[in-house]
Amino acid sequence: MEKPKTWKLLVIMLMLGLGLYFFLSLQKPAYGAMGSAHEHSDFKLYINGQAYNFSQAKYMTETDNSGGVENCATGSVFAHMHDLDGNLVHKHATGATWGYFFSTLNITLSPDCIAMDMGEKYCSGNGKTLRFFVNGKEVHGLADYEIHNLDKVIITFGNETDEGIATQIATITDEARMRAGGTCAPRSLLQTPQMQAQNSHAKWILIAHFQETIPPGLQCA
Ligand SMILES: [Zn+2]
Ligand SMILES: [Zn+2]
Repeated sequence: MEKPKTWKLLVIMLMLGLGLYFFLSLQKPAYGAMGSAHEHSDFKLYINGQAYNFSQAKYMTETDNSGGVENCATGSVFAHMHDLDGNLVHKHATGATWGYFFSTLNITLSPDCIAMDMGEKYCSGNGKTLRFFVNGKEVHGLADYEIHNLDKVIITFGNETDEGIATQIATITDEARMRAGGTCAPRSLLQTPQMQAQNSHAKWILIAHFQETIPPGLQCA
């Protein structure tokens, strides 16, 4: 009975191959090189009706307010906040997701729970729900959702009605739109040296635009 055995072996090998394929395809998305993107997104977190304060030093990659100079040596630079501005996420590499961003703040996101850095956990249940909205549209979880330029994102936990959540959504800031050079676009090259000096973040864009990787420890001044 040689033939059935060969078939069985083939089927097993095929299943192993498929398993490996799905395993590999489920691996974390690869992030682009530092500076492969430069996008901004406004966001807010509400817990039981209270806006959470992300404008704390501990959530910043850089608290140095000397005009937004960024330290490119830190590990969380793919998506981060700086200048004590907790309304705005800066994304500096393609593929950076909200889950990635929050993980750099020691905050864990799942569709049903948000676990904060100090250990508090807010999970859907007992009449309260954790909900996510991108540009006013409800989405099921955010962890794997890539940060996109000008997206307005809200995470809200509580028992608010849709109307209540609409009120919360209306409080999301509009800072991304006002950012000079929303992307790593040649547009930033059009700025005069004076403008660049005034906006060192724009200067950083220029550096990121020309360098695939930035040596560790280099201050992007
Ligand atoms: Zn930025
Ligand atoms: Zn930045």
